[in-house]
Amino acid sequence: MAIPKGRQRIQEFALIQALARRFAKNSSHLIQGIGDDAAVIAAPAPAWWQVTTDLLAEGVHFDLQTASAESVGYRAAMANLSDIAAMGASPRYLLVSLAMPKTFTPARIFQLYAGLMQACRLHDVALIGGDTSASRAGLFLSITLIGTTIAGRALFRHGAQVGDSIYVTGTLGDSLAGLQLLAGGSLKRSTPKPSGPLRKSDRDYLIHRHLRPTARIGEGQWLNRAGLATAAIDLSDGLSGDLRHICTASRVGAEIDLGALPLSPACSAYAKSRRLCQQELALTGGEDYELLFTAPPARHTALVRQARRRGFHITRIGTIRPRRFGMRMKSTDGAVRPIPMTSYEHFH
Ligand code: ADP
Ligand code: MG
Repeated sequence: MAIPKGRQRIQEFALIQALARRFAKNSSHLIQGIGDDAAVIAAPAPAWWQVTTDLLAEGVHFDLQTASAESVGYRAAMANLSDIAAMGASPRYLLVSLAMPKTFTPARIFQLYAGLMQACRLHDVALIGGDTSASRAGLFLSITLIGTTIAGRALFRHGAQVGDSIYVTGTLGDSLAGLQLLAGGSLKRSTPKPSGPLRKSDRDYLIHRHLRPTARIGEGQWLNRAGLATAAIDLSDGLSGDLRHICTASRVGAEIDLGALPLSPACSAYAKSRRLCQQELALTGGEDYELLFTAPPARHTALVRQARRRGFHITRIGTIRPRRFGMRMKSTDGAVRPIPMTSYEHFH
């Protein structure tokens, strides 16, 4: 706690108690949750902990003029869940720290937590603590998520080998398309003007994919437990940017087959309606929170068979090359060019 001043401190206690009553719950191995100087967790049988944290600042990472407190909470939790998914882990415990301006009412804090916990409830994550402070410059939200895997097993960025196939889960570009649709004319230069019709169901689907992304927890756990993947990362910045992280960490290059990038029918329809290149959307769009992973070609049949049995959607999109090859993309006409250094940031 940062500023222990009389009245404000009392209000803070009341808020924390109310949050604990509403959102805290028992969980296996949790000895002490909210309410003491620290949470206490009984160490389970030999395990690895995966610990990830994110700091979000109003005006930088989210805008409360256009997004509800609930969707800010949901997306913040989902970004952390996606990091845990990319490690092949099971998410377990959540800590939430807040610095909030005076104008921020308890009702809005509850909306924020409702969004956070909606995302976490899908995965049985327990809220076990946090910190609360006043802020003189907007809302700050820091989230820490703790996950576990069995000891000796996790998916890292550094394991990709030359010759491995590159895969992604789900479809790419949906979230960026949804963001552009939401922004309407307000994103100035970067928002393409409509040039054709788009069905309402497609529009709703894309906006939903942006506001309510799904972390691929089940897919990550499967890849890790089955020992099928050599490396993995979640797609938060966009395929081109995140693939670069895998290549840097693994000291390899990569070739992506643009024609193989998986697009949803809604995203294809959106691209067509705005005269956009759908492959560019898929390559550069951020915040899809799908997983990108690599695996030796000999495991392809097992991957496809097991994914189908589990109802997981995976697509092979390219091959890991030697480092000197760099990062290149093959167009449908067969031309191979360097992947441009664009990423999600360019859209903001
Ligand atoms: P301290 O002064 O020791 O930091 P606090 O009064 O900040 O204690 O916190 C008391 C309890 O409430 C702790 O268990 C802490 O983890 C929890 N807590 C504080 N703020 C939050 C929050 N925003 N969300 C969830 N738990 C919180
Ligand atoms: Mg504190």
